[in-house]
Amino acid sequence: MNLHEYQAKQLLGERGVNVPTGAVCSTAAEVRNFADKAFAAGSRLTVVKSQIHAGGRGKGTFKSGFQGGVKVCKTASESEEKAAAMLGQVLVTKQTGPDGRLVSKLLIEAARDIKKEFYVAVLLDRQTARPVLMASAEGGVDIEEVAEKSPEKILKESIDPAVGLMAYQSRKVAQALGLRGELMTQAVKLFAGLYKTWLDCDAAMIEINPLAIMVENDGKEVLVAVDAKMSLDDNALYRQPKIAAMRDLAEEAALEIEASKFNLNYIKLDGNIACLVNGAGLAMATMDIIQHFGGNPANFLDVGGGASREQVTAAFKIILSDPNVKGIFVNIFGGIMDCNIIATGIVAAVKETGLTLPLVVRLEGNNVLAGKKNLAESGLTLITGDSMADAAQKVVKAVGK
Ligand code: GDP
Ligand code: MG
Repeated sequence: MNLHEYQAKQLLGERGVNVPTGAVCSTAAEVRNFADKAFAAGSRLTVVKSQIHAGGRGKGTFKSGFQGGVKVCKTASESEEKAAAMLGQVLVTKQTGPDGRLVSKLLIEAARDIKKEFYVAVLLDRQTARPVLMASAEGGVDIEEVAEKSPEKILKESIDPAVGLMAYQSRKVAQALGLRGELMTQAVKLFAGLYKTWLDCDAAMIEINPLAIMVENDGKEVLVAVDAKMSLDDNALYRQPKIAAMRDLAEEAALEIEASKFNLNYIKLDGNIACLVNGAGLAMATMDIIQHFGGNPANFLDVGGGASREQVTAAFKIILSDPNVKGIFVNIFGGIMDCNIIATGIVAAVKETGLTLPLVVRLEGNNVLAGKKNLAESGLTLITGDSMADAAQKVVKAVGK
């Protein structure tokens, strides 16, 4: 699960990270109201930011033609105007894909001039099996590009989870970023808050890009988390009810939401062969073997170890609502799963959905004979596969190129 920038900033701010003062709004009037107060309180700038689960907003373009999903404004009326141009519009960025995302919320903040931008993140380093603090003086830009072209510009400080991020490590990173004196003190506090947020919230990754040196009206320099991106470890959501409540369903693919209602693990892909499989490992192997024989999987779908007939029917409806699907491959290895339940689910689903696409079924394991008998007696036209490879070749052939 991903969070919006305003939600990530709230969690970070509560743990000592310096974030701008702001408000989340869903109307231009609310933006105006905040901006009036900010300018009256002495701000010289505001920034109006589209809240979508994708980066690259600043350089994005709205389908309306309006340029930029992040706008720095000099007056309250300009803030209101920019807000009106963004709300209810679809923003396309490098990360959204061509469909873009509908902007229904904005974050407005009291803004300042930026002197320098950095990149900082905490994530799990799978190689060392430890959290890592990553930083770069090349902030504000595409960090993937920096990682590819000049990896030496990315600093990594591995964190021992038993003791947490040590102040000397933060000082080392701050030093390498060129932060001195008061700014180094601020950086150490900020990095500590960043790591604490990552740990407390069971985050998978928190990225601050840019972390900026901002200049106050009196010329004082302060370190501020200007942008924040946060993704969570879904397996830990059960113990994070406050964060789980921040889920924004509008940002998730409709089919994936439907699947989660039935406890199905569904991820849509670009191909045309739908897969219905029990077990994540087998689901991945199924996608691999489809590709091996020249086909393209339309989805990853794991119905789990003990799926019910209702779940199988729901799974069928979900995979069939993808218009790209030209054939279905059901690959079941019944360990816990009773093959006959799958068979009953298939028969019910095919009848209910009036399926006309080629359907290839490979059943193996627990109660397989009853399952096969059930399918054979159902009168449905389906293709059976003797082995996984056999079935995969049959579905690739049935779908054609
Ligand atoms: P992203 O494009 O989705 O990564 O959104 P960001 O929040 O990173 O904003 C994009 C860019 O807008 C930043 O890199 C900054 O250069 C600029 N920006 C954002 N907030 C402020 C601000 O408060 N003041 C100034 N001067 N610029 C800002
Ligand atoms: Mg950014």
